[in-house]
Amino acid sequence: MVVPYKHEPFTDFSVEENRQLMLDALKKVEADLGKEYPLIINGERITTEDKIVSVNPANKEEIIGYVSKANKELAEKAIQVADERFQNYWRTSDPKFRAGILFRAAAIIRRRKHEFSAHLVKEGGKPWKEADADTAEAIDFLEYYGRQMLKIKDGIEINSRPIEHNQFNYIPLGVGLVISPWNFLFAIMAGTTVAAMVSGNTVLLKPASTTPVIAYKFMEVLEEAGLPAGVINYIPGPGSEVGDFLVDHPRTRFISFTGSREVGTRIFERAAVVHKGQKWLKRTIIEMGGKDTIVVDKEADLELAAQSIVQSAFGFSGQKCSACSRAVIHEDVYEDVKGRVVELTKELSAGNPYDNSHFMGPVIDQGAYDKIMSYIEIGKNEGELLVGGDGDDSTGWFINPTVFGDVDPEARIMQEEIFGPVVGLTKAKDFDHAIEIANNTEYGLTGAVITNNREHLEQARRDFHVGNLYFNRGCTAAIVGYQPFGGFNMSGTDSKAGGPDYLIQHMQGKTTSEML
Ligand code: NAP
Repeated sequence: MVVPYKHEPFTDFSVEENRQLMLDALKKVEADLGKEYPLIINGERITTEDKIVSVNPANKEEIIGYVSKANKELAEKAIQVADERFQNYWRTSDPKFRAGILFRAAAIIRRRKHEFSAHLVKEGGKPWKEADADTAEAIDFLEYYGRQMLKIKDGIEINSRPIEHNQFNYIPLGVGLVISPWNFLFAIMAGTTVAAMVSGNTVLLKPASTTPVIAYKFMEVLEEAGLPAGVINYIPGPGSEVGDFLVDHPRTRFISFTGSREVGTRIFERAAVVHKGQKWLKRTIIEMGGKDTIVVDKEADLELAAQSIVQSAFGFSGQKCSACSRAVIHEDVYEDVKGRVVELTKELSAGNPYDNSHFMGPVIDQGAYDKIMSYIEIGKNEGELLVGGDGDDSTGWFINPTVFGDVDPEARIMQEEIFGPVVGLTKAKDFDHAIEIANNTEYGLTGAVITNNREHLEQARRDFHVGNLYFNRGCTAAIVGYQPFGGFNMSGTDSKAGGPDYLIQHMQGKTTSEML
């Protein structure tokens, strides 16, 4: 009997004992820096000449690790292994055995929780609180998907008649390609990988090239938890070099991608092409970017509104797909909310997250730094720069939290995903107008409404078109099993990670009918 699911609690680092545990974990992780990591295909460690170098975004000189890089030959080998393992073993493996691996892996990570979080501080540039939440979410995905598999393992009840017995079961699809982003370098990488695996598929895991070491460490955990060789194959490599090859391959049965709109739409298009020797239409689970809005009504707790905007905009330097990058504020309270947002933002600092006194760490790499700084330049012509607007890339990639006021809702900084610590404020005439502005992007991931007006909450529930809508709170921090996560429109296929429908998207329904 498995105990009911409950999400992993967050660590309170104001407690001295916890603070000390985290400092010890950081020291431990530092002793591991600069190591080499091989590929893992069929359990075999394969080292290549060509390496991906993972660096600490808060300190460019600090090398997290040198990771062997997959090329097309190794990607082909991994697909052949995964295909063979699927056909001859994993597709008929016992779902209880598979779920058991997830529960054991969760227990292993829980025991070494701070060590994993400390690694995320270093490889992902995450402040302690954000790193702790990422590790907790990875544990949650393992616990939740394990239980979901046990729930659906015997199929779904359908009708039978006296003359026949009918059965409806979910069976796995085949070889799944899992492509993960760097921002939830642990949780999304682990969650998408184990969802595919626990459903009975074999997996090729291609992590983001900026954060490949955490994925290797996760592979070690899965192996310790009993994962058989070849079921998940670890093939880090640049998306631009091996991505198309893996997506196009006729033995790839499905693709689970989380990342940018640009890459997601490319994968969606390529996956639609049927290649020679391919016997199926590829399934795609594609979760992409956001342009997420907090709406502030005139009848609202204005302190809550300002706190929600600032926390949602600048947590993890705005590098969450759910981050608030637009605030639409009723004109009657605009000046008050704007003033408080500016005050709160001025209290925040960006610095090396090793030191837990900083609210924000760096952005992930030079490319991100340059892109965000160029949007800040664009913003200077599109609105009033109220606070921030500057950065420093001399030691790491730091950008100060930036607020623009009086921005036209159609402006580029209000329409395009910046993925950094930048938020634009705009005025609405009334609540209808606010919802209209909130819906006027091509994305539809998260949103929040701050109001004490019950009718307006109901109106938003009906008309605010986003996959994750929050009332009287910020628009980030969905919890596995509590707020299934995924967006509409150009935010993706709305697969709802951490929700009850997620696993079956990695499976296909089979009906069996026997005449009695
Ligand atoms: P990205 O640049 O699209 O990369 C995501 C993954 O795709 C990486 O592993 C990348 O590999 C790979 N890739 C790149 N080119 C590829 C190709 N041609 N074929 C196959 N794979 C390819 O996104 P990111 O910068 O890592 O992540 C940030 C984005 O993710 C933001 O847009 C954010 O909103 C979105 N996101 C969405 C969600 C959600 O649930 N909706 C959650 C988190 C993040 P390389 O690293 O080797 O290039």
